[in-house]
Amino acid sequence: MQRIDHVLPWGCPGTERRLSVFRFGSGPCKAYIQASLHADELPGMRVAVELKRRLRELEAQGRLTGAIELVPVANPIGLGQMVQGQHQGRFELASGKNFNRDFFDLAAAIAPALEGCLGRDGPANVRLVRAAMQEALDNLPPPDSELQGLQRLLLQHACDADVVLDLHCDFEAAVHLYGIPQQWPILRSLAARVGAGTVLLAEDSGGSSFDEACSLPWLRLAQCFPQAQIAPACLATTLELGGMNHTEADQAREYAEAILAFLAEQGLIAGDWPAAPEACCEGVPLEGTELLYPPHPGVVSFLQPVGAYVEAGTALFEVLDPLDDRRSVVHAGTAGVLFAIERMRFAQPGRWLAKVAGRQPIRQGRLLSD
Ligand SMILES: [Zn+2]
Repeated sequence: MQRIDHVLPWGCPGTERRLSVFRFGSGPCKAYIQASLHADELPGMRVAVELKRRLRELEAQGRLTGAIELVPVANPIGLGQMVQGQHQGRFELASGKNFNRDFFDLAAAIAPALEGCLGRDGPANVRLVRAAMQEALDNLPPPDSELQGLQRLLLQHACDADVVLDLHCDFEAAVHLYGIPQQWPILRSLAARVGAGTVLLAEDSGGSSFDEACSLPWLRLAQCFPQAQIAPACLATTLELGGMNHTEADQAREYAEAILAFLAEQGLIAGDWPAAPEACCEGVPLEGTELLYPPHPGVVSFLQPVGAYVEAGTALFEVLDPLDDRRSVVHAGTAGVLFAIERMRFAQPGRWLAKVAGRQPIRQGRLLSD
């Protein structure tokens, strides 16, 4: 195991933050796994602890056939953001920016330089594109903030990987994944292994999130250079490991084993691993996800358990105003899996309280909630 420590730029005088990358094994394939980019989403960090322990073992046994980079703390900035005892890990307090938005657009940066360079040799194109990505990131002007410096470092480690897993969680949620539709046939095995309740697929969800910053450039380049052979060479997914409280040790060990078995299937680890279960949830368009909002302020009671399949018209939650006795019941507008609910039980204007993964597209444009 090799530990690589990067010092983040723009530290406050007298302080310094580091990003630590743990590198295991070597070989022609590479996987990159990071945890807790939204710093208060800790199930992924707990799984990373298990992954680190197991990868050390597997490396000592000589079973790693590829390189695996693990970043257990992808967001040391957010990890320190405590406000009166409450963790604030989703947005950088200094700028208000979501830590998982606006990653650098690699396709736009490298497309002009690749004009005339890519041909029919797929593997040669992969090498050329990855080299161009690294060069583009190396040649950027110095980052203008600590957040931008962090985002670039993460992308630098991930963009030349064959497999990228970004471990997150939702407030209270079933396990679910985000990915691009082109990669659903491969992602299906990972979804089955972690017992996902749903998989949400979109080619561009509009936020330049980390997984899409890794996977989308390949689609964009294939569109730019239709004559060239360009496969979607980076399988990237956001893996939402249930709700924020899911840090149980047994569960973390199970998820770590599921991830390792998936990496073995992708050619990164040798030996016998369990096959993926036959049963798997559906992959549905992210455009089909319904976000349900409260009609007025008040205390919230959920009427369905998270993870349940609900029909259109099912009552999902009620909002009660304790002063004027107003009671409103909010129903699902679409049939699908109730895969995430808000943790707070107080209804606020404009803040979603439940998400249902439907099959039929009902939204377009920017698909991710901030
Ligand atoms: Zn997250």
